[in-house]
Amino acid sequence: MYKPLVAVVGRPNVGKSTLFNAVVKKRISIVEDIPGVTRDRIYFDGEWLGHEFTMIDTGGIEFDDVDNNFFTSMRYQAELAIREADVIIYVVDGKTGIQPQDQEIANILRSSGKPVILAVNKIDSVEQEINIYEFYSLGLGDPIGISAVNLMNLGDLLDEVLKYIKEIPVDEDDEDAIHIALVGRPNVGKSSLTNALLGQERVIVSNIPGTTRDSIDTHWTHDDTKFVLIDTAGMRRKAKIDLPVERYSVVRALRAVDRSDIAVLVLDGVDGVTEQDKKIAGYVHEAGKGCIIVVNKWDLIDKDSKTSLKYTDDIRRELAFMQYAPILYASALTKQRINRLADLVKYVSEQQHMRISTSVLNELVEDAQLTNPAPAKNGRPLKIYYMTQASVSPPTFVLFVNDPQLVHFSYTRFLENKLRETFGFEGTPIRLILRGKK
Ligand code: GDP
Ligand code: GDP
Repeated sequence: MYKPLVAVVGRPNVGKSTLFNAVVKKRISIVEDIPGVTRDRIYFDGEWLGHEFTMIDTGGIEFDDVDNNFFTSMRYQAELAIREADVIIYVVDGKTGIQPQDQEIANILRSSGKPVILAVNKIDSVEQEINIYEFYSLGLGDPIGISAVNLMNLGDLLDEVLKYIKEIPVDEDDEDAIHIALVGRPNVGKSSLTNALLGQERVIVSNIPGTTRDSIDTHWTHDDTKFVLIDTAGMRRKAKIDLPVERYSVVRALRAVDRSDIAVLVLDGVDGVTEQDKKIAGYVHEAGKGCIIVVNKWDLIDKDSKTSLKYTDDIRRELAFMQYAPILYASALTKQRINRLADLVKYVSEQQHMRISTSVLNELVEDAQLTNPAPAKNGRPLKIYYMTQASVSPPTFVLFVNDPQLVHFSYTRFLENKLRETFGFEGTPIRLILRGKK
């Protein structure tokens, strides 16, 4: 489903990340924390009064080749927001008052035609509300006074965001089709893989309402299975991008992951797994999406009989949270194994949608308890009553116990392994939710 994107823009120190975190704290619960992924979170999916949206702190994005001139980096932030976002929250500082750069950024935002909400932050008390009036001169309509620190007026701000979100046309995506996102760092070969993959197919390209102008999805059908390849960064038609490459091409990649069922994480065989790859993989995992790892440019690697095993070891170690993802060694250039990708996608889709009956799950739980009895904590034994599957894609299980506090992390890991040994669930994360029973 298409989720509207809300971008937070503003000078350093106006309180963007404080605001962002205040909204995050109110709105989302992270299912599983992966070290290194959530620490500098700049992106999250949230919901306000039943409307889902994605929020991004553009201040947290690092651009390549940005000098230390913060105005340049601010302009990039603003341009990125204009290019990608549906609604922009422009944060200014109510304590310092209007600064010269505020007007310049306001001009850029105003002339973009995108909806802009002007938030005057650090209005920590009612007495300080008079400080918002000078910001009318930015020409961005009524400023909203907020305090990110004191959580004041955040509801009003989100209400304002909703006004615009409600007007965005509803996604008419084909719900039956498997949505695929090819993600990875620049130059790993995403465009080449796209072309190689689609080379043999009869494809239809279409613009999706609400997405940016240069974003084109590709639809095709193979053996009665419908596929949609979500465009990231104008893969099919190299878009003219006038921004320096932003870190991990983060916005496009994450949005594509959001809309996808399955992410194909493309690695460059020559470089191996980099920090950026780990980040992207972490988002895919957290988002609960299926994942296939393609090690591209395999033609460039000097190989012997042990090479792919060694690569697999490295990938399993570096992307330890993603043991479930199948790995395909391929070359977009020579087309080696490209024809296997569509079948693999179909297979992972089946795995994501597998449903296990409660009775079969309870046999598994009983078995598991026999081989590895749940340990007691502080002298209190853990009692497991039963397990049931709540949903698919990602497969989500609810475990009813006497007290969730008694369940050690290693025990849920053990149960997850049991589920995988027994049923597979290849290519998809699994979620295990604990519920206490009264
Ligand atoms: P960013 O650079 O725009 O992301 O700004 P930060 O969120 O890092 O905040 C910069 C400084 O402003 C920090 O010292 C915050 O504690 C402070 N700050 C943020 N929001 C508020 C607020 O609502 N009121 C006050 N008084 N200080 C704030
Ligand atoms: P993107 O930025 O991820 O879309 O990467 P591109 O598809 O534009 O590829 C970046 C560069 O890598 C181009 O010069 C491609 O020709 C090259 N490339 C892509 N795939 C392969 C491959 O499988 N083998 C080799 N040798 N080069 C490749």
